[in-house]
Amino acid sequence: MSPTDMPPANSGSAQDPARPPRPCPICGKPRNADVAPFCSSRCRDRDLMRWLDDGYAIPGRPASTTGPDGTDAREAFDDDEG
Ligand SMILES: [Zn+2]
Repeated sequence: MSPTDMPPANSGSAQDPARPPRPCPICGKPRNADVAPFCSSRCRDRDLMRWLDDGYAIPGRPASTTGPDGTDAREAFDDDEG
């Protein structure tokens, strides 16, 4: 057997079988090379907004357990088990 005995990989297909084109992750349309992996700048912005919306901190601090005096409002956890 010789490596030159192998049949040609290309059977006249225009697309590359090794790298199948993936659709836009936002809407599923064929992606655009200019805004890959999205199909358009619109979808790209949508994805960006989604990231920002998810990553940005919520305005206003979360409820703190500290009282107005600065002391811990929580009572001491007295575990008297046994
Ligand atoms: Zn899209």
